[in-house]
Amino acid sequence: MKTHFSCPVCRGFSWKSLGSHFFLRDRIRQLPEYYRLRWEIFFDLWFPGQDRVELREMMCKDCGLMTYSPRPETADIDAQYAYLDERQTPIGTRPFDENDRGTLRRIRRVHAFLASHLPPRTLRILDYGGSDGKLLVPFLRDDHDCEVVDYHPEPLKGIHRRGSTLEDIPQEMRYDVILCSHVLEHLSEPGELLRQLSARLTEGGLLYVEVPNEIWRGTPITYDPVTHVNFFNRVNIALLCQQKADLGIIATRTGREQFGAWRVKVTGILARKGAKRIEIPLPSALNATQRLQRPSLAAALAHLFEIRIPNKIARLRSEV
Ligand SMILES: [Zn+2]
Repeated sequence: MKTHFSCPVCRGFSWKSLGSHFFLRDRIRQLPEYYRLRWEIFFDLWFPGQDRVELREMMCKDCGLMTYSPRPETADIDAQYAYLDERQTPIGTRPFDENDRGTLRRIRRVHAFLASHLPPRTLRILDYGGSDGKLLVPFLRDDHDCEVVDYHPEPLKGIHRRGSTLEDIPQEMRYDVILCSHVLEHLSEPGELLRQLSARLTEGGLLYVEVPNEIWRGTPITYDPVTHVNFFNRVNIALLCQQKADLGIIATRTGREQFGAWRVKVTGILARKGAKRIEIPLPSALNATQRLQRPSLAAALAHLFEIRIPNKIARLRSEV
């Protein structure tokens, strides 16, 4: 765990501390199984020997990225997923049934967003961190070759699982399209993954990145202090996509999606390898977070009815 770190988006070292959350080991036994496993990781792997841990919420003063300190390093994140993998627990998903109308709508929207940008031929498509490959199903119907890399051991019918990590893919393999949906918020070095994925694209190949936009008067670390370590807004995720990798953004989407019963605002970015970079001023990224930290009354009411109340009901139902 690190207390001195640079911003994974803009590499700056200027952090604003926004307050502390305290976590008590004694609370673990009162939690539902999904959260209990995460808290076990927190206390047994990340802060062994401590019964009370303080996390400080931080905002990058340059680009508005939010995270917390101490911040996990890549080895801490790897230990987390090895722990969850051993227990055969679906990784990175909420404790809700995903085979519902909300999830199916999300799958259709991602396909529709990408469809007009795809060349009319059979493409090789990879979903990195795609669980059982459910996001690929509409692409499979279009007769594309669909592959997944994930710890999830059982891909859906017709989808080829290459393994658990990028190292399991043959060195020479290149993809026309790579999906990286709801992965970057989990990683200590998200820019490094983007660089590795870009290296796996054909020239002119497409990368689709989607992340949750969870900043709302702070970050949602109170219940789950391990699953997400980066909290992006719709502007700084675009900055990250153009940071190091040889990628230029060609389209973006924002909206509200459902993961089972769980509602989340998301930003989707479509980038092309070799495309010209678009200009994204740093202050606009910082402003985007500041607006979420101090929302207008209209924005606050919309958030309450579209996100907060439905999620409160979903959480209560899941704990029954
Ligand atoms: Zn930054």
